[in-house]
Amino acid sequence: MADRTERHGRATIHADGEWREAVSGATREILDPADARPFAVVAEGDAQDADRAVTAARHAFDHGPWPHTPAAERAALLRRVAALLARDREELGLLESRDAGKTVEEGRVDIDCVADAFRYFADLVAAEAPGRVVDAGSAEIHSVVVHEPVGVCALITPWNYPLLQASWKIAPALAAGNTFVVKPSEITPMTTIALIGLLTEAGLPPGVANLVTGPGHSVGARLAEHPDVDLVSFTGGLTSGVKVAQAAAPTVKKVALELGGKNPNVVFADVCATDEGFDTAVDQALNAAFIHSGQVCSAGARLIVEESVRDRFVTELADRARRIRLGRGTEDGVECGPLVSAAQREKVEAYVASALAEGAVLRCGGRRPGPAPERPASGYFYEPTVLDACHRDMKVVREEVFGPVLTVETFRTEEEAVRLANDTQYGLAGAVWSADTARARRVASRLRHGTVWINDFHPYLPQAEWGGFGRSGTGRELGPAGLAEYRETKHVYQNLAPRPVRWFAG
Ligand code: NAD
Repeated sequence: MADRTERHGRATIHADGEWREAVSGATREILDPADARPFAVVAEGDAQDADRAVTAARHAFDHGPWPHTPAAERAALLRRVAALLARDREELGLLESRDAGKTVEEGRVDIDCVADAFRYFADLVAAEAPGRVVDAGSAEIHSVVVHEPVGVCALITPWNYPLLQASWKIAPALAAGNTFVVKPSEITPMTTIALIGLLTEAGLPPGVANLVTGPGHSVGARLAEHPDVDLVSFTGGLTSGVKVAQAAAPTVKKVALELGGKNPNVVFADVCATDEGFDTAVDQALNAAFIHSGQVCSAGARLIVEESVRDRFVTELADRARRIRLGRGTEDGVECGPLVSAAQREKVEAYVASALAEGAVLRCGGRRPGPAPERPASGYFYEPTVLDACHRDMKVVREEVFGPVLTVETFRTEEEAVRLANDTQYGLAGAVWSADTARARRVASRLRHGTVWINDFHPYLPQAEWGGFGRSGTGRELGPAGLAEYRETKHVYQNLAPRPVRWFAG
């Protein structure tokens, strides 16, 4: 696998089955966030490269075999891809770690989840009925509703889970019979490049899977507006998502947006009544906020804890957060990697500074850590940070920080807990912790978020839809709805005994 990514070098743009350099010849260095050193060079595509890739995808859709390939064969190809991902798990996990800064173990888990997505969509299409027969009320009418691929899909992905987010789009797009152009984040393209190699190895015909490396403002924007693209599926921040929707509007293409989150983690005092309950809730609050240094769309970045247990809870949480081992994701024993870039760390620092200026109380972190053998001084590290005494009017509570920063708010009543948890423009995910099952379910049913966990945080299932309420997006990934995004619905009405209707006299 290392050979495959090396071999492409600067030729990382894939169109019509061929690897090419950027038309302009421009390149970009890919940095390892753990030491800020380049470890790869890729092509820096622009709108011209996007156009070539769309032309290839359009031709493969309009004239190629893939859209008409039987579902069982499409499913078999997806299963071969899953097997190749399992074969290359170690190398891909390592590559994801170097690209995005996560620990290698997190990288391996990501690759397992990517393979799961390919298997899930393979199973889904393989088991489907080819259409739904509708009772038209007459034996002379045969009426059937069928689903067809939408066409050429532009798939634009972020840097935090590079291959996972790409797979939640690529697997259903292929399962449904589409062709696509994927544009990974310009700073983390390596595993998506590798996946294109695996799709080819699995036997996908040329032109079905195309990839353009390069920035959002040129490649991404061109894909979103392109008249030959039928659907754009975007995962990223709110600001870019709005631009994508605007660029897509004049051509009335289908648009799916998976955007940010500001996710509440609501802890009722009753869960802390036993030592085990307390320990579990604290442990999971740490995971919710700090896994992948908080660079997770569904991060539990807002702890909303019942006033009576706040001191005990936050003291234990901050103690444990201080002990998180920060370092290069490939080092043994490291629990948390760096932030993805210098810009991301500066953004996080600005949020923490604004929170302190607005009256938040720093319980731990709030700075860059000192150097250590497992942590080069040049890496983009930032200490896990807990900010107490926060409230709804603070910028750090209202906006997505996307870093290792947890804010603490308190409540006294169930009503207040629900109000705080829903007090966000976003609505991606949230959790409620309570030993009282009836209360937990009652609160869960009132949360305006696309995923709600009860006494847990972060797990997702490929069989269950993922997506947001409010400004966390439109549409869903995963589950049957995640496949439906990539389809058009067609009603075929057949008159078995046609005769004149005589509406017009002549
Ligand atoms: P981003 O919006 O900066 O970039 C995402 C992708 O969009 C990149 O490939 C980028 O090059 C491209 N892009 C940027 N501007 C564009 C434009 N005008 N037109 C077309 N494409 C454009 O986001 P990011 O910083 O890479 O990722 C972090 C964000 O992603 C966070 O807000 C996070 O919450 C969100 N995210 C959401 C989910 C989810 O499932 N809802 C999952 C992962 C990440």
